[in-house]
Amino acid sequence: MHIGSYRLTPIITSTFALDGGAMFGVIPKSMWSKQAEVDELNRITMVTRTLLLESGHRKILIDTGNGDKWSPRMQEIFKIDTASYILPLSLAQHGIFPEDITDVICTHLHFDHVGGNTRFERNKLVPTFPNANYWVQEENWKLANQPHEKDRASYLAENWAVLAENGLLKILKGDQELFDDISLELVHGHTIGQQLPVISDGTTTLMYGGDLFPMKAHIPIPWVMAYDNEPLRTITEKKRVLPGLLDQDAIIFFEHDTKTIACKLVSYY
Ligand SMILES: [Zn+2]
Repeated sequence: MHIGSYRLTPIITSTFALDGGAMFGVIPKSMWSKQAEVDELNRITMVTRTLLLESGHRKILIDTGNGDKWSPRMQEIFKIDTASYILPLSLAQHGIFPEDITDVICTHLHFDHVGGNTRFERNKLVPTFPNANYWVQEENWKLANQPHEKDRASYLAENWAVLAENGLLKILKGDQELFDDISLELVHGHTIGQQLPVISDGTTTLMYGGDLFPMKAHIPIPWVMAYDNEPLRTITEKKRVLPGLLDQDAIIFFEHDTKTIACKLVSYY
């Protein structure tokens, strides 16, 4: 798919599983279990899906998935499959090497979005994409370094500290046009300072759903994750964003949906 000068390629970087109840907040299991496969521990299978944008020399990744820096115990808890999907190998299939990536847009610094930012090389943490600028919102950066008890377990400094040490971390303040035809929609209900890239050439518009719309099932207004720090704020943000997406006949891209990569809206109630 192309939007403007960008070629868009979705790339699955891992499968993992989270508690189904937590993924759907107040929605009863009798309803959400129809939307996702549930295992014996009440977990639903999800993916981490990166979006690769290519335009001339610029090669941008939006989020990098769970990465491969996991202890066997954590891998078991989150059912993380790091063997079937390896981001550098997937990129190589598109003729791209880690050194070619110019930019990584981090929607937010939760581990399932930025775990692939860094990797171990001979027991030393290094940036996976050594020539990239890694873009993050200031508010999210501050929270990640002094997290609240509620989502502290999701913020792991191993995914960004070495980027800052190498001068690769770029801090953004507020919504703005980051590159030609790529703007940022800021939302805060899931966690403060989540930035969702919106790619638009004036005719075709695509929003990267991040953790505002992790799966297609999260489009209806009350379908909000219990993981969200401020669920009422998420609801307000969905009510702000969805009418515009509907008006523009926009595409929503799902980072965590196993079956649906993206869709256009018909309605959201
Ligand atoms: Zn998150």
